[in-house]
Amino acid sequence: MNVTPGYPRRNPCLSFWLQHTRNSLLQEHRTTETLPGKADVTIIGSGLSGAATAYFLLTTGPEDKRPKSVVLLEAREACDGATARNGGHCRPDCYRDYRHYKANFGQEQAFKIIQNEMDTLNLTEEIIAKEGIDCDFWRAFTYGVVSGAGIGWCVETDRGVVETEKVVYATSAFTATLLPEFLGHIYPFKGQCSAVVPPKAYAGKGDVSADAYSDYHRRDMQAYGDNKLKAPAIMADYLIQRPDGIIIFGGQRGSVPVERLLGNTDDTHADPERTAALREALPRHFEGWPKEDLAEGEGLAHAWTGECPHVSCFPYVGELQDKPGAFICAGHHGHGTRFPSFFCAALE
Ligand SMILES: Cc1cc2nc3c(=O)[nH]c(=O)nc-3n(C[C@H](O)[C@H](O)[C@H](O)COP(=O)(O)OP(=O)(O)OC[C@H]3O[C@@H](n4cnc5c(N)ncnc54)[C@H](O)[C@@H]3O)c2cc1C
Repeated sequence: MNVTPGYPRRNPCLSFWLQHTRNSLLQEHRTTETLPGKADVTIIGSGLSGAATAYFLLTTGPEDKRPKSVVLLEAREACDGATARNGGHCRPDCYRDYRHYKANFGQEQAFKIIQNEMDTLNLTEEIIAKEGIDCDFWRAFTYGVVSGAGIGWCVETDRGVVETEKVVYATSAFTATLLPEFLGHIYPFKGQCSAVVPPKAYAGKGDVSADAYSDYHRRDMQAYGDNKLKAPAIMADYLIQRPDGIIIFGGQRGSVPVERLLGNTDDTHADPERTAALREALPRHFEGWPKEDLAEGEGLAHAWTGECPHVSCFPYVGELQDKPGAFICAGHHGHGTRFPSFFCAALE
């Protein structure tokens, strides 16, 4: 996959989460009228990676070592990339990836990775409480089926140039546009998710239980077998049920040719074929979910898409080779929100 991803599109579709931020003060927010000409640190990208980098730079370590000025640049709205389009899980992968980690790095390291993921979840909860962040965060079951220039750098934007001592690339799937050395290492992969209003059988006391989901898993694996598809990582479905009952359900990768997903940076609309596959998956796999005769307003209410960066294993975090003062925090793929690297961005 050696095609430059370009830049984020101007008119992305709205996810379920973004539909609920239309009156946010962060819409089209700019802290300063004109772009500051200089900064100690410039971060490109305002998703979890960029936002966490800014947060920790400004709040951790001895005060006299903290940067005096941090500029956060974003091509679209604040947090408008994968961070605003995901399935809402921040789930340590205690089971699914353990075997993979162990095979690659040994048992001890595998335990450490999973412990790190657990620590990240705890830290996320701590920060939300400490900063009084008003957001939907709750502990619940989640279900996953399968598994240089003078002072340093000049960052050119269409609003001017920022001279900066340090620059952080938090540009996710679009990293290779600015850093061509990542061509073929970080590339876009289109994810899709949906919000589903459950029928009565899965509402109220009948919400999605771990039993129902493991049944889903069993049937889905059976379907993989029947279709002679190679499990896992074909459909890679996942879901959470929100306290208001709405199910956030994503995946169904295998329902469209992979060429439609790899390198595709068009997040302006959900793929109708994949939406149909998501719509059909729950009635097929959940006992008692009516295949027809849903009441108006029940069923798949909204589908959206987003760019996941695809990498072979772990994200890239740290200073770039032969580029002193330039750092990367990118490549957090479809299981990205639990990566501790979001919180390891303190720059030396
Ligand atoms: C459909 C979908 C479902 C997912 N589900 C889950 C899930 O349930 N659990 C989980 O843990 N993870 C999930 N993920 C993955 C998770 O969302 C990502 O790992 C995480 O959000 C990555 O954060 P980030 O800050 O690195 O990237 P992003 O949030 O994509 O942020 C990168 C930002 O950089 C900006 N940018 C890029 N290039 C430039 C440029 N040249 N100039 C200025 N700005 C630029 C983009 O506009 C974007 O806002 C999902 C992803 C998708 C797409």
